[in-house]
Amino acid sequence: MNIHEYQAKEILKKFGLPILKGKSYNKNLETLSADIEDLNGPPWVVKSQIHAGGRGAGHFKNSFNDKGGVQVVFEKNEVSSIAKSMMGNVLITKQTGEIGKTVNHIFIEEGCEIDRELYLSLLVDRNNSKVMMMISSAGGMDIEEVAVSNPEKIINIHFTKYKDISLDESLQIKLEITKSQLDELTSITNKLLNAFTSIDASTIEINPLVLNKEGNFVLLDAKISLDDNALFRHPELAELKDLTEEDPLELQAAEHDMNYVKLDGSIGCMVNGAGLAMATMDIIKQFGKEPANFLDLGGTANKDRVIMGFKIIQSDPNVKSILINIFGGIIHCDMIANGIVEAVKELDFKLPLVVRFQGTNSREGKNVINNSNLGLIAIEDFTEAAKKVVELAKE
Ligand code: GDP
Ligand code: MN
Repeated sequence: MNIHEYQAKEILKKFGLPILKGKSYNKNLETLSADIEDLNGPPWVVKSQIHAGGRGAGHFKNSFNDKGGVQVVFEKNEVSSIAKSMMGNVLITKQTGEIGKTVNHIFIEEGCEIDRELYLSLLVDRNNSKVMMMISSAGGMDIEEVAVSNPEKIINIHFTKYKDISLDESLQIKLEITKSQLDELTSITNKLLNAFTSIDASTIEINPLVLNKEGNFVLLDAKISLDDNALFRHPELAELKDLTEEDPLELQAAEHDMNYVKLDGSIGCMVNGAGLAMATMDIIKQFGKEPANFLDLGGTANKDRVIMGFKIIQSDPNVKSILINIFGGIIHCDMIANGIVEAVKELDFKLPLVVRFQGTNSREGKNVINNSNLGLIAIEDFTEAAKKVVELAKE
């Protein structure tokens, strides 16, 4: 789960990290002109809050000036009008695609005189099962670009413990910082590690981490992703979820305890079990098409769930054909087959459908599908079923 910059900064502030004073707004900006008196400036920075990076270099759909989603403002009376123009407007960045994202939250922050911009992030390195810090003197910009053009500028540090760590002195030269700045960075790293483990984060990204004119570090941007599987331990963090940022279909699926992830292809998949869903996606790719989604119906694949699954898959206009791949265990294939037939009738479902059953009562299930007179195709062999559904998508 991703959270907004202003939420990330509130959290990091509690862990003692150097964050500038700011104020956040949800739609209503009424109190802004009074609040601004409490924030040091000029300048002030007006920051659009969306779950996407590249805001600074982005642009608005209804552009009110040629600047981006992060604007440094020097005139106090302009802060309000710029914030108003951003609120409700659609911000398009490299990461949002052409559709952009509607700005529902604004963060106003005290400005900072920047001397240098660095990059710092903490993440879980799955190859080593360790928390890793990526740090670079080339901050502020697209770190993916730096990784391609100047990979030597990114330093990876793996941690074997999460407190009282010290940073190697060689960093001083690599990052071109002084001894006292290295000490400050060490303290920041310890605080970030504490935050990372305490909130069960999967990523914390600070880009830029700046050195201000006084030579002190300030966290100017903050992105936090939380580990969904650990959210149950942090109900107060789970509440930070911004539903307007989530895919409506994924939310609908989650409400029904199904796992749905929308993808870009044309073949809809409805499967029970995550492993089988992965294998189904792989085999579709193998025959030259792309899956339109990952959908794990979960353990209880009954009629109602199949209907819900159809509705979700159907609302994606890219879907050309669907493969239902079910392994019957406790749930018998013929029961699911009846569910599928009823669901197709009830929804008057028209997309080409291939059904593949394995496991308990698979033969009975196949007969139900083939005798339905609804034009449904049951194929026992996984490879043949995948070939067929790919072929149907091409017609
Ligand atoms: P992003 O583009 O979505 O990553 O948003 P950022 O929060 O990183 O802001 C983009 C850029 O705006 C930063 O890299 C800074 O160069 C600039 N910026 C952000 N806050 C300030 C500030 O307080 N003062 C100044 N001068 N520039 C800022
Ligand atoms: Mn940034």
